[in-house]
Amino acid sequence: MTMSGAGSMPAPAPVAEGAYATALAQFDAVARRLNLDRSTAAVMRTPRRELTVHFPVRMDDGSTRVFTGHRVQHSTARGPAKGGIRYHPAVNIDEVRALAMWMTWKCAVVNLPYGGAKGGVAVDPKLLSESELERLTRRYASDIGIIIGPEKDVPAPDMGTDARVMAWIMDTYSMNIGYVVPGVVTGKPISVGGTRGRVEATGRGILYTAQEACRARGMDLEGATVAVQGFGNVGSNAARLLRTQGCKLVAVSDVSGGVYNANGFEWADLQAAKERGLMLAQMDGSYDHITNEELLELKVDILVPAALENQIHARNAGRVRPKMIIEGANGPTTPEADAILHDNGVFVVPDILANAGGVIVSYFEWVQDLQSFFWEEDEVNLRLRRILSRSFEEVWALAAQEDASMREAAYMLAIRREEEALKYRGVFP
Ligand code: NAD
Repeated sequence: MTMSGAGSMPAPAPVAEGAYATALAQFDAVARRLNLDRSTAAVMRTPRRELTVHFPVRMDDGSTRVFTGHRVQHSTARGPAKGGIRYHPAVNIDEVRALAMWMTWKCAVVNLPYGGAKGGVAVDPKLLSESELERLTRRYASDIGIIIGPEKDVPAPDMGTDARVMAWIMDTYSMNIGYVVPGVVTGKPISVGGTRGRVEATGRGILYTAQEACRARGMDLEGATVAVQGFGNVGSNAARLLRTQGCKLVAVSDVSGGVYNANGFEWADLQAAKERGLMLAQMDGSYDHITNEELLELKVDILVPAALENQIHARNAGRVRPKMIIEGANGPTTPEADAILHDNGVFVVPDILANAGGVIVSYFEWVQDLQSFFWEEDEVNLRLRRILSRSFEEVWALAAQEDASMREAAYMLAIRREEEALKYRGVFP
């Protein structure tokens, strides 16, 4: 390692709790276990670049409102930064830092040639009209345009954003630069350089990791009872694909609350209600309404948290007793909860592995954009499965070898890869 002479570790702004505290605690624990030297750890735990923008948006009623957005590039050690853009009222710089850091480990654990980034705007997109959302997106994209680009940092959808938002970002960036640049974002519509299979990729990755986990643990996926928290892109697609493999979908929730049916739901009924604009709490039928907290505590075989961070924490972890948790959301489990789940024998496939399907297919999209050569969907899915199966096996083997949890092993693998890249690149100048 060329980075010697550590000095004191330049810790980022102190944070008492929340997603960033979780992300730092997870990193620090594994850094200690790996005996990472202090200077390398300091480089790795500090975001490489942060941009905060405050920008005006003209609203439909003629008024102007100021919004705040961020883009954080946690690492570019292994390649261009990569990570989604979130529109949610709770977005703040610490949350974005955490999500950016998790992207670094996620790309490293599945061995994509990317660093990690994340962006977000503090806004509830449901409260904006389509034209307000477009103007907000275009202005935010213009403002962060100075640090994104296909060789620099490639955004993608996250909570509250979708393919339509990605198309506006691609168009805005292209207009500003003077020529079309499809590779500046992933998760675009297919007609403007998107890839087949991207919309459902994270949910499909959940299915593939659930299949690997069941195989490794000697459990049948067919007939397994499943509860899914969050019925958005990740939760809905995961629920649909798990159902196609014979799982029994007994509970789902969204921000309004959840529904439970011991006999199992048909995914299409839930999706049809969602497409009619219904929240799950508003649905009528012969099943029970439950809260999000109750959903997490159901006695199911597989729990898929696919909503927000910090949902399983020290106060409820003792009552969260599925056979396995496949983490669709980023950071749904706090470190304290992790320890409790471990003691209770709950098998956890960590977010940085379980939900990596999205970024893997984003990588395929970027490769296709750079080559202007597009693949069939079966090729996308085949390559996705190959990367996830190999990554699961690597993490599983390391966990056994080091007597570590799947999360610890995934972090160990990712941090070692990041460390190696930093070592070979050295410190500039
Ligand atoms: P989305 O906006 O499509 O859906 C989010 C869902 O969560 C909605 O059903 C919403 O009602 C629900 N929700 C919001 N707040 C909630 C709360 N407090 N309690 C319960 N449910 C709540 O978002 P998404 O893209 O599906 O992302 C979900 C999670 O998965 C996020 O943590 C995101 O970072 C992560 N993720 C997404 C992708 C992707 O490709 N979209 C990839 C990897 C990880």
